[in-house]
Amino acid sequence: MFKNLNELKNYCRENDIKVIDFKVIDLAGKWHHLTIPTTRFTKKTLEDGIGFDGSSYGFLTVEKSDMVFIPDLSSAFVDPFNEVPALTMIGNIYSIGDKIERFEGDPRYVAEKTEKYMTETGIADKTLYGPEFEFYILDHISYKTTPNHMEVYLDSEQADWNMGNKGTKNLGFKVGHHNGYHVDIPNDVSYNLRNKMVLTLEELGVPVKYHHTEVGGPGQLEIELSFSGLLEMADRTMLTKYVLKNEAIRNGKTVTFMPKPIFGEAGNGMHVHFQLFKDSKPIFYDENGYSGLSDTALYAIGGILKHSPALMAFTNPSTNSYKRLVPGYEAPVSICFATANRSSVIRIPGYAKKPDAKRFEFRPSDATCNPYIAYSALMMAMLDGIMNKIDPTEEGYGPYDINIFNLPEEEKAKIKGLPKSLEEAADELEKDYEFLLKGGVFTEGIIRDQLKRIRCDASKVNIMPNPIEFEMYFDL
Ligand code: GLU
Ligand code: MG
Ligand code: MG
Repeated sequence: MFKNLNELKNYCRENDIKVIDFKVIDLAGKWHHLTIPTTRFTKKTLEDGIGFDGSSYGFLTVEKSDMVFIPDLSSAFVDPFNEVPALTMIGNIYSIGDKIERFEGDPRYVAEKTEKYMTETGIADKTLYGPEFEFYILDHISYKTTPNHMEVYLDSEQADWNMGNKGTKNLGFKVGHHNGYHVDIPNDVSYNLRNKMVLTLEELGVPVKYHHTEVGGPGQLEIELSFSGLLEMADRTMLTKYVLKNEAIRNGKTVTFMPKPIFGEAGNGMHVHFQLFKDSKPIFYDENGYSGLSDTALYAIGGILKHSPALMAFTNPSTNSYKRLVPGYEAPVSICFATANRSSVIRIPGYAKKPDAKRFEFRPSDATCNPYIAYSALMMAMLDGIMNKIDPTEEGYGPYDINIFNLPEEEKAKIKGLPKSLEEAADELEKDYEFLLKGGVFTEGIIRDQLKRIRCDASKVNIMPNPIEFEMYFDL
């Protein structure tokens, strides 16, 4: 929004901005914030930054945990959720040595380096990313955790579904199990709230493609953004989650992007569509290629499929991610590609036929990822595929233009499966991360920090009694 401090100061004066709020991302992909009165924002803030404890953000490999962030003026926006007029901006993370230097593990820096590396390879000079956000809106009643027991109080309707009580009572306007896709009002109970969310996003400069109800009934929704560049889209991803959560809370609701919040219902994916351009021309299109895809696109797909087990450690980095990736819910489980097939890791949308609309989507990812790092890792896999001409048809990745779940068992067995747990994904990343280090984009430190973080999550869940275990074992 601003090019320099003067512009910002003038804007604050003219608009009576009282406080400046900074958002800084942690390794897990969560924004933290710190606020200062507008009068404290000076040239010094931009030169020296504002100090914080990086180890509390999951950045563990720096010698000392003291770090600073320096606000990115261009990311400023007037925050619609503050009661006093506030300007919010994103901080870039720096490490403190002899001098202040950009921290190699700063997720935003990783995204910047990725786009730079993409251009340096000469393959493309522009990329477009298009994420789809699936989420549930639930009543915000209460939420409580204790060290070894978790209770999530949902509204009674939701609790009913959770109890497996899909009985025969008159449901009136209630959306049925697995029946939520594109339902109209009055069944679409969050329609007005979603419009508010979308209008707020548009006001903040995040264009929305469309929004609708999703299959998971009741309460699953989807918002898709208009495509934009990698770093810009990672910023917009953070902003989207921020707006949805805050707009929901304002309205007595809560939003969750958790990949599998409700047993037996559709999970929440965050599919991502990709396009690459060189000299303003789309390079994924070839009218004679499979599904209208160029060789470059096929190699990009080959790269993603080859590295997909390792990628999962960044694109699906929660233990809950793997509860979504099971057969029967339109979520992918097999490493293959296809046109219009929702059971494959890579799907080429059948309706995107024109050269500048030609694209494919990566379906495993979910919104528990750090978008900067996940989007970067996906680009690194595509570039690796293109540079090494990894042909997905030769590698046995398809195309499978059939529902894989309906294949005979011996055919199904030939298709490699995605990791089944966070631990497996961590093991895969440990074996396969060289492609991420190219061009100095990722560092060994980032890989190490991520592995440490996700292995720690996995072991927490492993030693925690699970509610279903009470049903299975309490009375043995
Ligand atoms: N909810 C499904 C998933 O978990 C995707 C449904 C769709 O294709 O939009 O990925
Ligand atoms: Mg969807
Ligand atoms: Mg999709």
